[in-house]
Amino acid sequence: MKVLKFGGTSVGSPERIQNLAKLVQCNNEPVIIVLSAMAGTTNALVKITDLLYRKDMDNASKQISKLEEQYRKRIDELFTTEIFKNKGSELITSHFNYIKNFVNRSFTALQEKAILAQGELISTAMFHYYLSETGIDSAFLPALNFMRIDKDGEPDYFYIQENLERILADEPKHKLFITQGFICRNAYGEVDNLKRGGSDYTASLIGSVLQADEVQIWTDIDGFHNNDPRYVDNTSALKQLSFDEAAELAYFGAKIMHPSSIMPCKLKSVPVRLKNTLNPVEEGTLITNDETGKGIKAIAAKDGISAVKIKSGRMLLAYGFLRKVFEIFEIYKTPIDMITTSEVAISLTIDDSTNLKEIESELVKFGNVEIDENQSIICIVGDFISESTGSAKKVLEALENIPLRMISYGGSKHNISVLVNQEDKVSALQALSRNLF
Ligand code: ADP
Ligand code: ASP
Ligand code: MG
Repeated sequence: MKVLKFGGTSVGSPERIQNLAKLVQCNNEPVIIVLSAMAGTTNALVKITDLLYRKDMDNASKQISKLEEQYRKRIDELFTTEIFKNKGSELITSHFNYIKNFVNRSFTALQEKAILAQGELISTAMFHYYLSETGIDSAFLPALNFMRIDKDGEPDYFYIQENLERILADEPKHKLFITQGFICRNAYGEVDNLKRGGSDYTASLIGSVLQADEVQIWTDIDGFHNNDPRYVDNTSALKQLSFDEAAELAYFGAKIMHPSSIMPCKLKSVPVRLKNTLNPVEEGTLITNDETGKGIKAIAAKDGISAVKIKSGRMLLAYGFLRKVFEIFEIYKTPIDMITTSEVAISLTIDDSTNLKEIESELVKFGNVEIDENQSIICIVGDFISESTGSAKKVLEALENIPLRMISYGGSKHNISVLVNQEDKVSALQALSRNLF
């Protein structure tokens, strides 16, 4: 069994959906296909829910009609027979009537989740119908019948496995199964989701509970690149990465993989392959638990970081100071990413600044607090510690003209991180690319 996830661009137009049907037919073994919403749809639905929240019903209605029109055109282009054009049209009518129901009514967070789910519900139904029209047998696996998160928002592995295995056992004849990425139910049975970009996570969870032979994440680029292709030219795809390296890169901004999608496959040693729908012959990047060679492999960057410095005379020769500082972040459920210390001060970074004001007002009890917002963490990943390769020197030399706010080395053997002003991010990524690869 393999699990193949296709992202928004891979199902982004009728033509792409038609290509996808050719691509998935070539498999002789059972395959579960996980689909995202068509590119742009979830963003459009987010915009609609924002308007509904703000009770801007006129504009909400306009946006709903605009999206509906796009889908009507797509249905017309995708299907060739009258029967399926009609089926497709009924599909769009029913999903958009559902969305229109929320206009002129009070609106809650739960309803927002239900609206966001429509993108994946539509794309999977369209693909299922298209396969039927083309005579390709497939079975539909509604994600809302097996994908569930618990009260802490963590996947309920037991529930997912039990239900998915039961549903699959009921469909012994089929080889091709289609399900929705991103959407799930929460502990109360309500429609929820795995956060933006979460279709990768769906694929990884399915691959993990079924102990699949491989999970493949298909997107619009031929694998994990050694730097962010959105900001740097001439990046190249890596053949292999370890789960630990991929986890650092995904967490620190490599958009090609959702950061949560690494752990489920790592735990069960299910290989993950990143592939390009636009160029399927390329082997892509294979991610496994194996170590994959020495030295610097790849770079990623994450924006929107706040750096917090606490300077205190009380830290000198004292113990327990760091615990007191970290407790404040724990109380406000705010994860810390980078930390550097000196004898009289500590600097750390956070990504979630929702409670920054409250945190600051607690921290001032310990000393002087300085906050720098709009920072970027640049994360350089490879295998640095097992062999002394001079990697840190190369990194710092490459960044000699960029002001560095923090440097972190030695936290794991895979990662060197530096903190820079967000406006220096692109120059830093480019300088690293020029000097390291
Ligand atoms: P999908 O919609 O298929 O999930 P995403 O847009 O989420 O696709 O992810 C693919 C995009 O990730 C690529 O088009 C590329 O611009 C971006 N990206 C960022 N960092 C990397 C990287 N290191 N390697 C490859 N792609 C990356
Ligand atoms: N459609 C969802 C999003 O845009 C999930 C995904 O694409 O992975 O975030
Ligand atoms: Mg994605």
